[in-house]
Amino acid sequence: MSISVKHLTKYYGEQAAVDNISFEAKNGEILGFLGPNGAGKSTTMKIITSFIPATEGEVEVCGLNLKKNSLQIRKKIGYLPEHNPLYLDMYVKEYLSFVGKIYGVKKIKNRVAEVIELVGLQKEQHKEIGQLSKGYRQRVGLAQAIIHDPEVLILDEPTSGLDPNQLVDIRELIKKIGKEKTVMLSTHIMQEVEAICDRVIIIKNGKLVANAKASELQSDVSSQVVFVEFDGEVSRNRLAKVSSISRVESVSKTSFLISSDSSADLRKTIAAYAKQENLLILTIRKEEKSLEEVFKQLTR
Ligand code: ADP
Repeated sequence: MSISVKHLTKYYGEQAAVDNISFEAKNGEILGFLGPNGAGKSTTMKIITSFIPATEGEVEVCGLNLKKNSLQIRKKIGYLPEHNPLYLDMYVKEYLSFVGKIYGVKKIKNRVAEVIELVGLQKEQHKEIGQLSKGYRQRVGLAQAIIHDPEVLILDEPTSGLDPNQLVDIRELIKKIGKEKTVMLSTHIMQEVEAICDRVIIIKNGKLVANAKASELQSDVSSQVVFVEFDGEVSRNRLAKVSSISRVESVSKTSFLISSDSSADLRKTIAAYAKQENLLILTIRKEEKSLEEVFKQLTR
């Protein structure tokens, strides 16, 4: 197991930012760490990377206990903190070489060149970090995280603030790097989890609310979504009042995405409603629930 967290708790004063959470990340896995803002993601990551101490609980990284082997663990972890703090007036190569030296990386010139190639910074390698776009700064952040060839990568919101193209590039890069490492990455973007993660854990108010494969999560949560198209206009509000319907999203004046948390077949509920209102149903189909829906339901 690359990361093992047991009963981890962190108090800031009176507030439990992380409240008795346990989870594991297997070797080679890309684990998505999901939760709304303030859920406790960064706090958990800062504890795993030894930046702050836990109040209670046990953390092991690559079989080493965090309390006893903090220094050794730091060598095995690459960390990209939230907001990617970089020295903007340093040059890319100079900065990577500086970080590499802190980790005691041997043959530093070769390693810097290798990492620059791996993250696609060849063209920018002679520039000052402050001159780079946000996407390229993230590449520098990833490069410094892997400079010492760690076994585990902890990435805190690695794609936040990127434009759609940069986002795709950085996701691809994380996937590429993740082939040889265990990656734990936090995000509040569902598509990110769908795009790159093998497994997902979700926290809310410091507590774990889900731990599953993304696909399992979608089928586990007891909620149904049905697309329906009627032959005439229907008021969204009236539909929303039908018992066992929990949410109605208008697609057009005559078609809707309808959700229910009840176990009764939602299509029957909608058919009964149509009959009562003298409406014809032109289309009705069950929709695959998006992770977005699952996330909303679990963290609402
Ligand atoms: P996330 O990364 O999921 O957005 P954080 O771990 O940053 O969540 O924060 C969890 C909770 O802990 C929040 O309510 C936040 O305000 C609080 N918090 C985070 N850091 C500190 C700190 N250094 N001192 C006091 N409270 C903090």
